[in-house]
Amino acid sequence: MTIPISIRNDVLLSKALQSLIDEGRVSCELGEELHTNATLPGLTALAMMIKKSRFGNSIFFNENLHVNTTNVCTLACRFCAFRKGPRHRDAYSLTPEEFVSRIEPFEGKIDEVHAVGGLHPDWTIDHYSEIYRITKQRFPGISIKSLTAVEVKHIASKSGLGVLETLTILRDSGLDSLPGGGAEILVDTIRDRICMGKEKSSEYLEIHGIAHELGIPTNCTMLFGTIETIQDRITHLNKLREQQDSSGGFQCFVPYPFLKDNTRLPEARLASGEEVIRIISLSRIMLDNIPHIKAYRMNIGDHLSTIAINSGADDIDGTVGHEEIMHVAGSTTNLNYDSYKLGNLIVSAGQNPVKRDSTYTRFEPLEIKSKKEGKLLPIIGQ
Ligand code: SF4
Repeated sequence: MTIPISIRNDVLLSKALQSLIDEGRVSCELGEELHTNATLPGLTALAMMIKKSRFGNSIFFNENLHVNTTNVCTLACRFCAFRKGPRHRDAYSLTPEEFVSRIEPFEGKIDEVHAVGGLHPDWTIDHYSEIYRITKQRFPGISIKSLTAVEVKHIASKSGLGVLETLTILRDSGLDSLPGGGAEILVDTIRDRICMGKEKSSEYLEIHGIAHELGIPTNCTMLFGTIETIQDRITHLNKLREQQDSSGGFQCFVPYPFLKDNTRLPEARLASGEEVIRIISLSRIMLDNIPHIKAYRMNIGDHLSTIAINSGADDIDGTVGHEEIMHVAGSTTNLNYDSYKLGNLIVSAGQNPVKRDSTYTRFEPLEIKSKKEGKLLPIIGQ
């Protein structure tokens, strides 16, 4: 592979490339230096070089739907616009039948349901087992990606079970994978300030490790642009990388910035579009052992996502029939795309769309007419 001139002529990027060639990874010190000092064109070029060496011009997506089980939560994370107290007029808690009825309109159009929610004060494992059981009964072809690590911990504690036993029961009821939300920043001093009461960093990693042991693949995430430092971000990436070295079940890393509003976390530093792209590229460079890096369209929008898939991301958030958490936090990303529309977005960014299943085991390139043939749809969205 030809090394782009923007890397060859840059001492820092050449050092990073050499380190990847010699040792297979870049150190935390080098990661921090790249975050702070690398030029954006150079950083994205290096990330794209790595991405292309693994996946060529392919960009993966799936056909999915988000259904939130409940917005009632016993915690009150300071960045969260989604949670409600149990007596709030907009509070809701879905019965298993209601959960299934949210999927029904999308039957035949999706192959994954992404289901997370608040920490319900009353629900035990029985409620979740029933949701998964009847969802699988009704839609056997739909993969269930559900529960953040803190939900797993909460369900285990409400049910008087350990995490291993809880995940075993849920897996046997139909749970296929975990989405990875709730990692925020895996530095406990930061967690204590933005999400007091949530699981510790070590618990997040341990729960994912147990899932991997049970053959349940998981994703992992990072919420940035709150109060964390660059060093905290590097610590976070390194902890995920070390966990992956030991348990190996992370499929995809999903970084996303805090979405600002006037009420939550006023001291948040926020992340610019440039910083979002920098994080995507840095993740690709540092997370040498996590195969996929996602442009989380629901949070960063379509236009920034098209830049992200030219900056090291190989995966883009799917068709997403419905989504709440990012939209109540201020996202205006269009929902309910079909494969063709999402495929066009990817083609318009100069990449090749490949439809995948929920757990990255089946892949199907999507045929989209080229721009030259005049069939390309305009990019719609922000
Ligand atoms: S982020 Fe999750 S755990 Fe925290 S308040 Fe919101 S719903 Fe509850």
